[in-house]
Amino acid sequence: MIFLFGERARAKTVPIGSRHCAVCDTEQPFSEQLESTWFCLFGLPLLPIEQFAEYWRCEHCLSAYQPNALEAPSSVPLVKRICLYILLGYNQHAHVAVAQEICLKLCGFELTDSETKDLVRDISARHVDIVDYVQSQAAYLNGIGKQQVLEAAFLATHACCELQYEDRLRINLIGNALGVGLEFVDYAIQQSRKKNNYEIRRLRHLEPEV
Ligand SMILES: [Zn+2]
Repeated sequence: MIFLFGERARAKTVPIGSRHCAVCDTEQPFSEQLESTWFCLFGLPLLPIEQFAEYWRCEHCLSAYQPNALEAPSSVPLVKRICLYILLGYNQHAHVAVAQEICLKLCGFELTDSETKDLVRDISARHVDIVDYVQSQAAYLNGIGKQQVLEAAFLATHACCELQYEDRLRINLIGNALGVGLEFVDYAIQQSRKKNNYEIRRLRHLEPEV
């Protein structure tokens, strides 16, 4: 007898009633989204192997939230940290306002001065490895959120320099930590470019000429 076995991804949607969506700024129907990999025999799922996504979703705007954390979509804290991480990596400490601009334009949420100060302190102290952090949050994101995170990484890089191989490699690493392939990273970058990079200007143009 031949046994045919393998793995298959399964998604489950469970309605959880109305919640206040921070993006819609009104009460909206929400659902819990569970995505997992199952061991299959003859195409029939037998055992769950790994749960790779668990988030709450507003059924109106499709924003994904970490369960029980509805202050902002789960992508927002990632966008904030990644923008600042990249700016600091290019030694652009003086231009953290660009991170605030990217966050507002991409997500519609403000990165306040006090949040910026705390994050800059935390990133500079290297308390958190950025790839580990992205990996730890990936399960709370859907495609929209992952795209925002990648666009944020691209835009922050674009503000600092013309994208070179090693800059692109860093964005690819973030994509890998999010659990998406290179095609998705390409797609996110193309989306930013199509929107004229949200009119985020390159930093050297802001610096006074000497
Ligand atoms: Zn919504």
